[in-house]
Amino acid sequence: MATITDDFMKQMMATTKAYTIVILKEGPNRDRPDINQIIWEHGRRNFSLRADGLLSIVCPIRDGSNINGIGIFWDNTLQYIGYTPDTKGKFNYFINMNKFVTQNALMTFAFGNYGALTETMTDAQVTTEIMNHLKSIYGNSIPNPTTMLRTKWGVDPHTFGSYSFATTGTTTADFDTLSNSINSKLFFGGEHTNKQYRGTVHGAYLSGQREADKIIALL
Ligand SMILES: Cc1cc2nc3c(=O)[nH]c(=O)nc-3n(C[C@H](O)[C@H](O)[C@H](O)COP(=O)(O)OP(=O)(O)OC[C@H]3O[C@@H](n4cnc5c(N)ncnc54)[C@H](O)[C@@H]3O)c2cc1C
Repeated sequence: MATITDDFMKQMMATTKAYTIVILKEGPNRDRPDINQIIWEHGRRNFSLRADGLLSIVCPIRDGSNINGIGIFWDNTLQYIGYTPDTKGKFNYFINMNKFVTQNALMTFAFGNYGALTETMTDAQVTTEIMNHLKSIYGNSIPNPTTMLRTKWGVDPHTFGSYSFATTGTTTADFDTLSNSINSKLFFGGEHTNKQYRGTVHGAYLSGQREADKIIALL
């Protein structure tokens, strides 16, 4: 057997995660004549839970006891799953959408240079990179997602980007400059014109109110 050191034990114990284990015991209907058909349908439901990413592991126990198997469920109690990647901006957190909707879905983000790189990658490549992070949190046995939706704001001709980015040398005065109207005839709203709340929905909303006030004042 492999030698397990104290350091290895400490390292592994620090990465243990919260899973839910369900122990499947025989019930009072175990001797029904149609029991095999019921067990078959339970198996079908287990595969369905697995396909939805909820049931990571299900395995039978055949030791003659009244415990017939165990199921290990995905940890869906968390709302936010953080991760420290080797590459800056690479899928460094996951939002558990199941907290807000009934579907089992995780949402994650790519930022900066890595965000631009993902836009050149195929869906399969992106999925693999995301799964590598999730596997290092939850282990290699977790199933791949059944489907994946992604945005490509940088190459989408209707956006060519997402929202304003303050690079080195940007000052708050730049956001004021972008909000300047031209000859009191052309007015500019949008998150990029709101230095206080740039890059946000409420920043965009407030900028619209600000420009509307300017126009009303001219009437
Ligand atoms: C992934 C992501 C997550 C975000 N999360 C949050 C969040 O959690 N909280 C938050 O507050 N904000 C968040 N934001 C930011 C927020 O969505 C934006 O700041 C906000 O939507 C900007 O609104 P806007 O009206 O300024 O611009 P947009 O909503 O970008 O509207 C600009 C519109 O102009 C159109 N357009 C562009 N060019 C032309 C053209 N030549 N002719 C005609 N129309 C054109 C575009 O199609 C678009 O409809 C997020 C943004 C992204 C991308």
